Amino acid sequence: MSAVKPILGIIGGGQLGSMLASAAKKINIKTVVISDDEAAPAKNFCDKFIYAKYNNENKIDEFVQASNIVTFEFENIPYETLKKISQKRPVFPDPAINKIIQNRYTEKNFINQIEIKTTKFALIKKKEDLLNNKDLLPGILKTCTLGYDGKGQYKINSLNELSNLNIDFNNEYILEKTITLKKEISIIITRFKNNTYQAYEPIENIHQDQILKSSKIPARIDQLTFDQSISWAKKISEKLNYIGTMCVEYFIDQNNILYVNEIAPRVHNSGHLTINAYNISQFENHVRAVCQLDKIELKKISNAEMINIIGKEITNYQNKKFSNNEFFFDYLKETIKDKRKMGHLTILKD
Ligand code: ADP
Ligand code: MG
Repeated sequence: MSAVKPILGIIGGGQLGSMLASAAKKINIKTVVISDDEAAPAKNFCDKFIYAKYNNENKIDEFVQASNIVTFEFENIPYETLKKISQKRPVFPDPAINKIIQNRYTEKNFINQIEIKTTKFALIKKKEDLLNNKDLLPGILKTCTLGYDGKGQYKINSLNELSNLNIDFNNEYILEKTITLKKEISIIITRFKNNTYQAYEPIENIHQDQILKSSKIPARIDQLTFDQSISWAKKISEKLNYIGTMCVEYFIDQNNILYVNEIAPRVHNSGHLTINAYNISQFENHVRAVCQLDKIELKKISNAEMINIIGKEITNYQNKKFSNNEFFFDYLKETIKDKRKMGHLTILKD
């Protein structure tokens, strides 16, 4: 480990950027955050904050000059921007990984190529492609790029519904067969430079309106699913030559078949409980991996449940008293919006 600690540049200033900056501070790593939101919450937690659009070359350069190593809190940064930064500073995870994962079609193809199961899907560029893939109905049409929290998705039960949907074919989509979900789980895994890993135990997730509502450990799953979800996450991170923390989201259907839903090449909302339930959080582990610090053995402290606080629900929490097993995080977002993640509560359990 080098004696001088690097300054970590973080692209993106939302709650994930805030939590990365806080975790870095805890281990005496200074952070520079760049965000296209002037009111980005992370400005409260980092050492230096730069407000700029992600295509502003001068500002990007100022950010690069102020950082020794660069990482990011969200995967949809323009690939060209990341690529340019990586010519001047090490960027972890590698921007080439983003290129694969930014697009649901290339992401799912990658997963299938390494012999890991996903739901059935097809690329949809025009209406006829839908007509030719009616065996995937009932299904969900998902925009290939820039979708999150269910945005850019259409549920389609039958071809009769197409005329009502008003699909914008300027975008490309995948049509994915709907499966009957028994459960959703995720694996948070951190991969370090020397091809070593730390995986947290599987986390059980509940979504409401396609937004994560709550996460808990232990997940109520069988041993086979437990082992397979971890071993697939390891395989994915290894094949991507990934450095840092990532998340693999899974579906389990009513026959207990496991599918990878999607990969997030970053820290993830379902891993927030690791802040309180483990000795080292997903955020600290990310900082450790990308800054090449020592890997510390993971120890679970407690079972836990995390509840996302969405939209105006936040006002009910801001003046609430909490017991000493409850940890409330207010993301300090300046405006409350419907369906916006405003904070979370983690409850430690026996
Ligand atoms: P996002 O990128 O917006 O998170 P996802 O593909 O993860 O999009 O979909 C959001 C949620 O919608 C999932 O967590 C799951 O609850 C539900 N969902 C998505 N695809 C399917 C599917 N093929 N079958 C059943 N449910 C699905
Ligand atoms: Mg998802």
